[in-house]
Amino acid sequence: EPVPLLAVNAIEAVYGGAIVALNGVSLTVAAGEIVALLGPNGAGKSTTLKAVSNLLPAQRGRLIAGTIRFDNAEVNRHSASALVRRGLVQVLEGRHCFRSLSTEDNLVTGGLARGSSRPELARDLERVYAIFPRLREKRKTIAGLTSGGEQQMTAIGRALMSRPRLLVLDEPSMGLAPLVVQDIFERLTALNMSEGLSILLAEQNTAVALRHAHRAVLLASGGSVLEGRAAELRGRADLKDIYLGRT
Ligand code: ATP
Repeated sequence: EPVPLLAVNAIEAVYGGAIVALNGVSLTVAAGEIVALLGPNGAGKSTTLKAVSNLLPAQRGRLIAGTIRFDNAEVNRHSASALVRRGLVQVLEGRHCFRSLSTEDNLVTGGLARGSSRPELARDLERVYAIFPRLREKRKTIAGLTSGGEQQMTAIGRALMSRPRLLVLDEPSMGLAPLVVQDIFERLTALNMSEGLSILLAEQNTAVALRHAHRAVLLASGGSVLEGRAAELRGRADLKDIYLGRT
């Protein structure tokens, strides 16, 4: 068994020293794999992703047990920005972009976060525009004036400018029209196939996630309760019951 690119092992997390958010989450992402983290509202998906990128301290949260290793490094020992430079890049929930900057300047910030040179920035911008042609059309437009789908593409494009080896996405479908969601997922899947980009994504849209992921992990009340191949989970009638806490 090769060592997975990301290994989350039995993590427990609290906010503010008291609120227990995670009580035993385990998952792995192998190189080249797309893994979906599923579960209802409040199950702990965002907290798990924040832990993976060492972003919990910024939320007054912290791990109290378990380990997270990315590419054989303990993520706790590296700042969130150092993790970006190592290739662990997260797109936060809610199409996080700088609303007052142009689309292109948003993309550039992603390159600067990894310390790209000018020629690298130019090359990576072309690459992002090839993936999302829509962003080329909107490159001079202030991001806050573009559509929700374009803002999500900008947020993803910004992450790609950091040249991730593991792209982490928190609810990429949130608030977007079904066709836009499908378009974004198809482009992510194409990147995974053409370049072997590894992806970990949290989704409440179970159907879309299971259609595009290789594997899925289901969270309920702060713990991982089920793990399996996406193709198998798609056919499981009891998935919804587990999802809704009926078993
Ligand atoms: P959602 O889709 O609603 O974001 P989720 O599965 O991502 O759900 P989390 O956001 O990780 O779930 O929340 C897990 C638990 O931690 C919930 O009980 C939530 O109320 C709590 N929580 C999340 N963020 C904070 C915070 N910053 N401070 C305190 N409690 C928090």
